[in-house]
Amino acid sequence: MLESLRRIVQEVNNAPDLQLALDIIVRRVKQAVGADVCSVYLNDFENHRHVLQASEGLRPDAVGRVRLELGRGLIGLVSERAEPINLDDAANHPRYECIIDTGEERYHGFLGAPIIQNRKVLGVLVLRQRRRRHFGEDEVTFVMTLASQLAGAITFARTSGELARLQDDGIPQRFLPGLAASSGIGIGEAVVVYPPADLNAVPDRRPDDPEVEVHEFRRAVGDVIQDLERFAARTQNHLRAEDMALFDAWRLMLESDTLIDGTLSRIRAGNWAPGALRETITEHARVFDNMDDAYLRERASDVRDLGRCILMHLQNQAAGPVEYAPRTILVGEEISAMQIADVPRERLVGIVSTTGSGASHVGILARGMGIPAAMGVSDLPVSRIEGREMVVDGYRGRVYVSPGPAVRSEYQRLAEDDAALTSELQTLRHLPAETTDGYLVPLYLNTGLVSEARPLGIEESAGVGLYRTELPFIVRDSFPGEGAQMANYRQVLELFAPRPVTIRTLDIGGDKPLPYFPMQEANPFLGWRGIRITLDQPEIFLTQVRAILRAAIGLDNLRLLLPMVSTVGEVDDALLLIRRAHDELLEEGYQVKMPPIGVMIEVPAAVYQTEALARRVDFLSVGTNDLTQYLLAVDRNNPHVAKLYNEYHPAVLRALLQILTGAKLHGREVSVCGEMAGDPLAIFLLLGMGVHSLSMGAGSLLRVKRVIRSISRARAREVLKVALECEDAGAVRRLLLDALDGVGLGALVRPGK
Ligand code: PEP
Ligand code: MG
Repeated sequence: MLESLRRIVQEVNNAPDLQLALDIIVRRVKQAVGADVCSVYLNDFENHRHVLQASEGLRPDAVGRVRLELGRGLIGLVSERAEPINLDDAANHPRYECIIDTGEERYHGFLGAPIIQNRKVLGVLVLRQRRRRHFGEDEVTFVMTLASQLAGAITFARTSGELARLQDDGIPQRFLPGLAASSGIGIGEAVVVYPPADLNAVPDRRPDDPEVEVHEFRRAVGDVIQDLERFAARTQNHLRAEDMALFDAWRLMLESDTLIDGTLSRIRAGNWAPGALRETITEHARVFDNMDDAYLRERASDVRDLGRCILMHLQNQAAGPVEYAPRTILVGEEISAMQIADVPRERLVGIVSTTGSGASHVGILARGMGIPAAMGVSDLPVSRIEGREMVVDGYRGRVYVSPGPAVRSEYQRLAEDDAALTSELQTLRHLPAETTDGYLVPLYLNTGLVSEARPLGIEESAGVGLYRTELPFIVRDSFPGEGAQMANYRQVLELFAPRPVTIRTLDIGGDKPLPYFPMQEANPFLGWRGIRITLDQPEIFLTQVRAILRAAIGLDNLRLLLPMVSTVGEVDDALLLIRRAHDELLEEGYQVKMPPIGVMIEVPAAVYQTEALARRVDFLSVGTNDLTQYLLAVDRNNPHVAKLYNEYHPAVLRALLQILTGAKLHGREVSVCGEMAGDPLAIFLLLGMGVHSLSMGAGSLLRVKRVIRSISRARAREVLKVALECEDAGAVRRLLLDALDGVGLGALVRPGK
């Protein structure tokens, strides 16, 4: 049963539209379970009814026509209870109804499983048996698993309007939900980016010239054949004859009509070579997948491997610059900082990713660049939306694909309001970030996530509060040397001088692995990360510190920050190494100075040791992104738990208070450099607590300044006092929204307010 489940899921995932997916499910489930009838009813909430949407065993002409009032019969009961109902004698159940229109006979065995997405019942998958039958536990879990598979497909069909067409009524268009990652409204054209050689992530695309695609495909196949021949020649003395036979099999496949003619005819039918190849390989592999012989089934993975090899060659040929639409919405399953940086800034109007969350580094980057973004939009069928018009609502984390005229014009209006707000904010650029009662809050910039000659926000910031140094390490294929690093740091120190620049030592690990420094860890965020790595590999740390100290010679604006500290021993060891680098450089004749040194408080252990840490260093900077992740035990990149990730959680607020109290005992200043610092709502809390400075992405600077200039510190303290009485994050957020509305600035966090 497990094997048929795997195959059905695969078939459903490959189905080009919802109706086909439903038809596959009912046909295959009826067969696998040996039921008399298998049907799917979908809930049509607008018209208050259950609609028979697919069936195997009922009259075909009943599909789409049979409509039951919402809540009626056993279908209604499953929907109401949102749990499976398994009856061996349904005919005697009080909710039993026999619907003549479907050609259905009186039945006894009944199994209904709800199709649920985000706690909402979208429909019911039903099995019926004329005789009495109690479906077994295996059969119940089988049907429930398939029902959950259907949920995603139905949600997408609802949003894209496909379901409305199927049900032949005017259901208004809905959105695909995701997570708000960067505020703003983006309306543009989807440009799909995908990781190299991942066949499943290749989108469909219309070729400019099919003959060019044909030529490239043939050349890629030829290249793979040559690779194979070279490899076979090299290994023929080392491999057994039966293993060598594999090469022949591959070669046969490569020259087969199925692969060649199948792909060529798809290209000529209007798909580009990678898309046509994906379709051919998927179809071909499916034939093997469905075979009952285990050996033959294994051949499916050979077919996929072959597909990846051809794709790799195709992508090498097509490695020229990507054509970005004038209003590009970058879409992908996983989008990297490099892919974002590749789009000319003036063409990039939105970012949508099916994975990740607002707290992941791509979310932070989007905010820093002021680009509307939604992450974790898990229902988005990436391979089907290339070139489609899209709306990204970065305030609410919503995405619309091919929006209808009403949705489009509403969002056009909101985008115009947003643009007006942005230009109004420009008037604040040269005004101080000062509260109405005269308290100055220096606003610093977070930078370094993407390489820019001149980061945004240079003029309106008080300096750099967090320079992330990972990028030069990530983009290379080995550790950068002292000279290369120094040039990099010098650039940013010079650009902002005499304003301070806080450079953070390397914080790799977690969601920032280095390609040339492989780490296999079950829990990377709880593993070898940040200062843990650099202290274990002191040569990496010493090279970096030397480069940073040398870069600051004659500028005097450097501050050094240590990430991921969880023990005082780490700080002591790091201070020794920094002192050593400093002394050695002096001996070598470099006029370096010891900079102020700070520690990031981003691990709960550090919160409880703030006092001991503050005694050792000059300043503290709170990394609320990791602090929230570790305090709440919620992975900052995981969309499934993103609802739990919340910086207004009372535990986070109490941790912040504790940090400020510990720092005060030693007269140390506390800055916040996590994303919370750039959140207009959180300003009430941070100001109320007495945080000394804030550091944020360029996109947030003016919004935060606007809030600071509209409130007094006394008002912030009042709001904080009430917030500390709240027992959950939702209550804190509501309070903050009211406070922001109270000063007429609700539009900073909600469009159209
Ligand atoms: C943080 O954790 O809040 C932080 C600023 O560091 P990063 O986001 O780079 O982990
Ligand atoms: Mg961090």
